[in-house]
Amino acid sequence: MSPPPDEIRYHDAVTYQVLARSWRPQRFADLLGQDAVVQTLQNALSSDALGHAYLFSGLRGVGKTTAARLLAKAVNCAEGPTAEPCGVCDSCREVTDGASIDVVEIDAATHTGVDQVRELQELLRFRPTRDRYRVVVVDEVHMLSKAAFNALLKSIEEPPPYVLWIFATTERHKVPATILSRCQQLDFRPLSNEAIRSHLEAIADREGFQLSPGAAGTIASAAQGSVRDALSLVDQLRAFAADSIDDEAVAAVLGVPSFEVTAGLVDALAEGRVAEALLIIRTEFASGHDAAILYQEAGRMLRTMLHLAVDPSLDSALTEDLRGNIEPLTSALGIDALTRMLGLWLEQEPMLRDAANRELALEVAALRLARWPAVQRVEQWLAGGEGPPAGGSPPSPTTTDSPGGGPTPMSARPASLAAALWAKYPRLAGAIEAAQVSRDGEVVIISFEADAHALARYAGSDAVRPALQSACGTIYPGAVEIRVEVDTVQDQPGETENALMAAAENDPGVALARSILGGEIVAVRPNGGG
Ligand SMILES: [Zn+2]
Repeated sequence: MSPPPDEIRYHDAVTYQVLARSWRPQRFADLLGQDAVVQTLQNALSSDALGHAYLFSGLRGVGKTTAARLLAKAVNCAEGPTAEPCGVCDSCREVTDGASIDVVEIDAATHTGVDQVRELQELLRFRPTRDRYRVVVVDEVHMLSKAAFNALLKSIEEPPPYVLWIFATTERHKVPATILSRCQQLDFRPLSNEAIRSHLEAIADREGFQLSPGAAGTIASAAQGSVRDALSLVDQLRAFAADSIDDEAVAAVLGVPSFEVTAGLVDALAEGRVAEALLIIRTEFASGHDAAILYQEAGRMLRTMLHLAVDPSLDSALTEDLRGNIEPLTSALGIDALTRMLGLWLEQEPMLRDAANRELALEVAALRLARWPAVQRVEQWLAGGEGPPAGGSPPSPTTTDSPGGGPTPMSARPASLAAALWAKYPRLAGAIEAAQVSRDGEVVIISFEADAHALARYAGSDAVRPALQSACGTIYPGAVEIRVEVDTVQDQPGETENALMAAAENDPGVALARSILGGEIVAVRPNGGG
């Protein structure tokens, strides 16, 4: 995104000052989301322990230049040096207006040469004309040439007592170590979605325009931690939608699908409703939205859902309404399925990036994800886990907690015993995954194939019993006994394989894979069974 202009003409003759400018913080307390930086600077100011060179690093649009100007005001304020510059004295006002003689701002992106640094050094030989300090703010300092850095070094090493250097950079790793070591370094944090969203809502309130919660959330996440980008987006939106910015205006201007559309797409993908997913994608294309953005937004939605599933406080940028929209699907899918879906979705990125036809690439990506529930059922069943494959009956009786006991859509499946163990006891979870887990009244039966007796012994050992009991308590409330069994009646090898083969043949996921890849199913091997 290019830096925003200072003024936008909109609604005919009205000249409108951009929000990033009219809302630039004039007090340290108003600097959004940079409490640690503010505290460090204010402490230094009030204890008279100011350094002579600072390096502010962090993403663009998180308040580095604003903090530099506040610091310049603080040291030169008629009431100061002070941790709370007055904002109204000549000195403060001149900094606000960019008209101060003693506060110089240089953009290193356009002044990279050694000559400019020498010129600057010439200026710094003289005491400030009125104020206490000559403050030099060098923005994007990493862009300076090597010679310019070397020239600069001398000035930082032995600065006159009235000089204060403030360097700002978005790429600290490109600043030479010799410079870094001579500066006090302050790290500016990216702003959280939540912080940006509530800032936008406060601004809308004060400026008297409507901003829907969905719109605020979408803008906040599109801004990726930069409050300046967020405000610049709001400017664009106001130019488009005047005083009522809603989800549709955001969708039109940013080219991002609305929350409902993205949630609908993820819902269709998660439940394998291929036709519906493709229809959503086509509709979005018809309204001129970019495939890359749609892909990105679906990934972001999966991530949000994963956050919600892990810990609802992780993604507090969502309003209650929006959260309510995706909560049912989130809890139905659970952490494991969401992790895999997100992983699978991210794997499609290179294809989408390189594709000549991005719409087609996105459709393929969606197709792959939408087929995943079916593939997962087969995988689970081949691994001897819970859950029958769709459309076929399992070779041995398996019960799950899901009502009906028929083909179980992934989204309705309760978290499995293995899933409950995974975080703390991965090895035990791995063993349980190789077993069939069923429940018979108060008894949980964990049944292993005959050739998995080593796993069965491990799962039945006293060492893992407490972990198993606790996980069973979560997944099968009311169960009082755990029985670990080994299947002693071994099928004829040929029969097992035939049964597996038949199930694989019948599975739509496998059928799809074959239709794409071609070829025959050569062998189906139960996991861990040899
Ligand atoms: Zn002042």
